[in-house]
Amino acid sequence: MRDAKSLVATIYLDTGRVEFDPNFKFKCLDDCAKCCVELDIPLRDEDITRIEELGYSTWEFVDYEKMFYRGDRFVGYALKKRPFDGACPFLREDGKCAIYPHRPLACRLYPFLLVKHGNVLEIYVRNVECPGIGHEEGRPVDEAFIEEYFGEVVEEYRGKMKSHGAMVGQRA
Ligand code: SF4
Repeated sequence: MRDAKSLVATIYLDTGRVEFDPNFKFKCLDDCAKCCVELDIPLRDEDITRIEELGYSTWEFVDYEKMFYRGDRFVGYALKKRPFDGACPFLREDGKCAIYPHRPLACRLYPFLLVKHGNVLEIYVRNVECPGIGHEEGRPVDEAFIEEYFGEVVEEYRGKMKSHGAMVGQRA
């Protein structure tokens, strides 16, 4: 049985150093949209606000009856599913995402998982049915890939580390 997840890269948040597995490759396939149909997507408040700013109303894309928890912490409500095919309401007929640059964080991260331990951010690939994992035209999760896919999240973590460091400094 394969592990539930495999480590493909490590980011040292304080120095920016990246270590990655050169043998792992990934490419999200243009004509796939498998995850847009099969996944249940949690929405953070920021995701909802960003999509509302595009002119959508929450009734069009938020399922308030489905909730996600991490342990006992509420993570968010779910992205709605289309009643006729169970897909994401933003999946267009041509198989592309109608809000791609503004898509929820969970969509940006799939099929990866980010785990933070202190100053270290580990990037794992999940053991899921995604044809982009190991694709021969794929790219390793190197510095450029991390910037493109996870840049916003890495900056968010760096910002939190800095403000935490400043608070600790103020207390000392
Ligand atoms: S992330 Fe994987 S499952 Fe989703 S569209 Fe890309 S290749 Fe398909």
